[in-house]
Amino acid sequence: MALHAIEHPTQGSTQAGRIGPNAVMQTVQALRELYGPTATSQILAHIGRPDLSDFSADSLIDEREFVALHHALIDALGLAEASRVLARAGTLTSQYVVHNRIPRPAQRVLRLLPSRLALRLLLRAISQHAWTFAGSGAFCYTLGRTPQLTLEDSLTARNLSAEQCTCTFYAAAFQGFFTTLIDPRLRVHEARCAACGAARCEFVVVGEVTQ
Ligand SMILES: [Zn+2]
Repeated sequence: MALHAIEHPTQGSTQAGRIGPNAVMQTVQALRELYGPTATSQILAHIGRPDLSDFSADSLIDEREFVALHHALIDALGLAEASRVLARAGTLTSQYVVHNRIPRPAQRVLRLLPSRLALRLLLRAISQHAWTFAGSGAFCYTLGRTPQLTLEDSLTARNLSAEQCTCTFYAAAFQGFFTTLIDPRLRVHEARCAACGAARCEFVVVGEVTQ
């Protein structure tokens, strides 16, 4: 089905360590939404990246750009606040992908299907394009009673040590896909995080996933 059309503009490259530009672009947009343009410029100047104020790209970026931005925001704002920014960035990224990369007919089909089948199709499509958001990390999933998504070497847990899960970007992005395309009641929760010492980051899909 047409779900395969979750495309990246430069789809075709599977070079490790490169991701789509949305992670950085939407993080800056989330800063603007949460703090306003003036404070955002100040924050970006403070972390030494004033150039990101008008960052825009339609080609792949080095995943380390996103990792460094995440770490800089944690240093500047604290983990809780940076996590809030990254969560909003994840939601914005899912909205961008839904509006720009998934054809309307495929969206309608997904919303009409039983949620478990829709989840199966959507996760397959997400998995096929995982390199665009996971970079050199690895994404996989299982569809048991409680569907589970896994990120190995998550970019938002890399080189971090924290008492709380740090991958709000991915949890929010996954949740954005599922609530928009399957069922608005679905929630995604990061149950284990590599930043907290887990072997990998694990996200569970919470909510009624019917047959
Ligand atoms: Zn994590």
